[in-house]
Amino acid sequence: MKPTIALSIVVPVYNEEKNLHRLHEEITSACRKLDRTYEIILVDDGSRDGSLGVLRSIQASDPRVRIFRLRKNFGQTAALSAGFDNARGEIIVTLDSDLENDPNDIGLLVAKIEEGCDLVCGWRKDRWKKHFFSRRLPSLTANWLISHITKVRLRDYGCTLKAFRREVIQNIKLYGEMHRFIPAIAATIGVTITEVPVNFRPRIHGKSKYGISRSIRVFLDLLTVKFLLSYSTRPLQIFGLMGLISGAAGVIIGLVLSYQRLFMQVGIGNRPLLLLAILLMVVGFQFVTMGLLGEIMVRAYHESSEKRIYVVREVIESEPSETE
Ligand code: UDP
Ligand code: MG
Repeated sequence: MKPTIALSIVVPVYNEEKNLHRLHEEITSACRKLDRTYEIILVDDGSRDGSLGVLRSIQASDPRVRIFRLRKNFGQTAALSAGFDNARGEIIVTLDSDLENDPNDIGLLVAKIEEGCDLVCGWRKDRWKKHFFSRRLPSLTANWLISHITKVRLRDYGCTLKAFRREVIQNIKLYGEMHRFIPAIAATIGVTITEVPVNFRPRIHGKSKYGISRSIRVFLDLLTVKFLLSYSTRPLQIFGLMGLISGAAGVIIGLVLSYQRLFMQVGIGNRPLLLLAILLMVVGFQFVTMGLLGEIMVRAYHESSEKRIYVVREVIESEPSETE
């Protein structure tokens, strides 16, 4: 599908009936200022309040609005993904529907993309000035941890206000709660990422959809992301290495014990080290076979999904008629 318009604004909506009219007005006025063709994609993630009715009335009054209604509540990541799959714009901007992000910042992000950046992330700089221990510290810790583990340094992984060049997002598949890791995943296909300070406004209507359990889920997703980013195309290199170390330790201990038994007449039947040696060897063997199985799975995965192990930015070649 060739992009036909300049800008797609993608917004996930879950039980936000009171915020939608103002959201639409603000996005519209922000986009008008930019003087570009645009569409607004609102993805209704199985809302149970009156959101759908409000969305319908907004769509009826504005043909630039496209509504995608998911069958049930699939979660924010899935809602964003549905938006990405259907976006027709050259540049894609995401934001929350609870008005915490300020649509007036869209212009800032778009300008950065047009300067040549592939991905621009909002940084809610002045958020949580007050609640240092309950809010700011956990957020600082999470961003520090994610930055260090993924090696993509950002100050605000949690901000949904982001802008992408179309090709970037098309090469990324999202699962679980992974929308927040898009920059880290995108970095592996070689994109330029910048962060710009954006406005943050506390939610007025409705309430946050997440509780404390989010931290645990985000942490587990971080593990998955780390593993996929570092080893998904070469599992044997990590499992194999662990297997070899473990197996070698087992063999060395075993040899020492055998030497003692054969040449020094020391009984080894009641030595805990014997158990350890056997354990290390078995575990080592299993790690190596696990790595080999991983290699098979990686091949099956890449081939069945036609996913390449590389991503092309651009093809520069002559038209076929010129080379004949
Ligand atoms: N959201 C969604 N599906 C969900 C949960 C949230 O589409 O299952 C949307 C929600 O409507 C909002 C955005 O994702 O636009 C962020 O949600 P929320 O404001 O609850 O998160 P927080 O700001 O507390 O991180
Ligand atoms: Mg919010």
